[in-house]
Amino acid sequence: MFTLPPLPFAENALDPVISANTLSFHYGKHHKTYVDNLNGLVKGTEFESAELKSLVERVAGKSEHVAIFNNAAQVWNHTFYWNGLNPKGARRPIGTLAAMIDESFGSFEALKARLAETTIGQFGSGWGWLVKNADSKLEVVKTGNAEVPFTRGLTPLLTIDVWEHAYYLDYQNRRADYVRAVIEQLLDWNVAASHLG
Ligand code: MN
Repeated sequence: MFTLPPLPFAENALDPVISANTLSFHYGKHHKTYVDNLNGLVKGTEFESAELKSLVERVAGKSEHVAIFNNAAQVWNHTFYWNGLNPKGARRPIGTLAAMIDESFGSFEALKARLAETTIGQFGSGWGWLVKNADSKLEVVKTGNAEVPFTRGLTPLLTIDVWEHAYYLDYQNRRADYVRAVIEQLLDWNVAASHLG
């Protein structure tokens, strides 16, 4: 059975960038539903006792397993998203990550602008990501719906959810305000560094 991991912060900890009301639905309903749906889908199958990330990799791109992929990837994506947010986290990268950002984007400010532009520009539901590619260079990418970068050989460092359920209660149609506030006030750059490997 797959389980809903506890949030790494109190439900009101991200307020006012992300309200407790949004988190109660986003984590308590949406994220939980992906977990419940996944458990229903894998019950009695070869995937029942799989590890979550390897399950996502095994079913990615397989038309007969679309529902399992969508729910498993959304469980993984949301847990990764929560873990990258911390209102008291590191607001700037340091050390190796800072050097890689300067090399790949020119400056931290340039990376933040690229991350905002790309994430805001995702058409419809999806995710914006900072990733490390196979050449150990950093890239900003976006994915639609439940798609994940790691099935394309990209190592995720941070993500921002731009499904409407992530921001509509707090920002309505102002996706750009939500994305910029998350980048400036919630992304924890020490968490990003921890995923460099
Ligand atoms: Mn979401």
